[in-house]
Amino acid sequence: MTKFSDLNLNPKVLRAIEEAGYETPTPIQAGAIPPALEGKDVLGIAQTGTGKTASFTLPMITMLARGRARARMPRSLVLCPTRELAAQVAENFDTYTKHLKLTKALLIGGVSFGEQDKLIDKGVDVLIATPGRLIDHFERGKLILSDVKIMVVDEADRMLDMGFIPDIERIFQMTPFTRQTLFFSATMAPEIERITNTFLSNPIRVEVARQATTGENIEQGVLMLAASRKDREATEKRNVLRALIDAEGDKCTNAIIFCNRKMDVDTVAKSLKKHGYDAAPIHGDLDQSQRTKTLDGFRNGDLRFLVASDVAARGLDVPSVSHVFNFDVPSHAEDYVHRIGRTGRAGRDGKAIMICVPRDEKNLADVEHLVQREIPRLENPLGDKPAAKPVKDTAKVTTKAGKPASKDATPDDAAKSEKPKRTRTRSRKKPDSAKVEDENSVADTPTPEATPKVTAEPQHEPKAEAPEEKPQDGKPHQNRRGGRGGRTDGNRNDNNRQQNNRNDNRVVGLGDHTPEFIELSFEQRSK
Ligand code: AMP
Repeated sequence: MTKFSDLNLNPKVLRAIEEAGYETPTPIQAGAIPPALEGKDVLGIAQTGTGKTASFTLPMITMLARGRARARMPRSLVLCPTRELAAQVAENFDTYTKHLKLTKALLIGGVSFGEQDKLIDKGVDVLIATPGRLIDHFERGKLILSDVKIMVVDEADRMLDMGFIPDIERIFQMTPFTRQTLFFSATMAPEIERITNTFLSNPIRVEVARQATTGENIEQGVLMLAASRKDREATEKRNVLRALIDAEGDKCTNAIIFCNRKMDVDTVAKSLKKHGYDAAPIHGDLDQSQRTKTLDGFRNGDLRFLVASDVAARGLDVPSVSHVFNFDVPSHAEDYVHRIGRTGRAGRDGKAIMICVPRDEKNLADVEHLVQREIPRLENPLGDKPAAKPVKDTAKVTTKAGKPASKDATPDDAAKSEKPKRTRTRSRKKPDSAKVEDENSVADTPTPEATPKVTAEPQHEPKAEAPEEKPQDGKPHQNRRGGRGGRTDGNRNDNNRQQNNRNDNRVVGLGDHTPEFIELSFEQRSK
């Protein structure tokens, strides 16, 4: 079995790893670190939860420890699809550089340019950025990328889903052709393949095998709910959700409640709050300070219920989540594995409860097919009439902090809050899928493994470096992001996603609790 000490990492990095409690490298680490340290391009096919962040940060830090940052000319660049993920990569850097003097700047949207500019001006070793914000800085003339020696693209498949590929191509073209590239993606959709063929040079391919199992220590259940009337369905789902939470009692110390659509995230969080539950929403349309505050609150135990979209919860690493509630059956089966992997972590027991309405039965069948088991059916805690749940019950609910439930939550209020909103009905002209956020978003503690197998990618044409594009109209944000569907980092292009799903083999679901990880093999591939 490979040891960290065999990997030629900087001794100060090794010390930080030891202090972080890691004993052995995970497969992706054992496979990617040696070629990365040799200066080779790496194509890592692995998803969140496999330890892939350390597989690029550790060699980067080791290499960066040898030189010095220059003003406005970062030496390395990490691109992440979402702000949360970028922030998490930055945290990883802090952990592993604690005994070294390396500087970093986090360039993400929703944060003022001023502070970011100051850091860049001073000179940073590592820039961790979302693509849009990086291009903004570049176009403002504040950033010179000609000294970038190492560039990482993390979660390239998500970048594709979110329409960031044109931005990524542009950033590749802004950086020197001699740079080293470490490129990570959970899947290899044709578009990703094209990018890697174009911009990577003889990459070493390290692949973590596909896995689609759910941990045995997660108790699962699904409640089949047929609404009394079609127009009452959303209301009845929320009533049932509260009843399911109540039925768990004190065992439910905290929970993530996943919804497929952003607007449902808001509605469910609002409804729970109204009924006295300590809940807050998180999704890509909320401003960054709000998202950070909510996540921090959930992490440190001040917030009991996090109502989330897949995208926003992406990369969220909270070690003890007692419950996951799926307000909707995810429309992509593999997201089920990622969602429920948020509970039952680090060997703890967890519980995952899902609500399924008749329209979602096909999705449920897909989930059960993927996890190769039937999810036990739960009884409706409200009996046959979910809509009739008396709102006064909710007044008994206390927040985690022991505060009594909102006194304002009267039956009338609740009834009002549960009314389906007209605007919502009207705005749903597009098919639902157009609004669905669905990201793989598990951040598990991976289990170390034994033998890594890596392959050299076939020889491609030398890196094609087109001259840098200038925005045609001089206005930075209009033309260049046409394909991205908006400026929010959390936005995405679901059509792309659906397209991809047809075309690729997704690597899914690794739970930190899952000793099966040990049995994972690497696929040795050469094309
Ligand atoms: P990632 O796939 O990078 O999101 O990593 C998921 C989690 O695994 C993070 O909480 C890391 O701190 C943790 N981790 C990374 N490498 C190791 C390792 N070799 N041993 C144990 N935990 C690790």
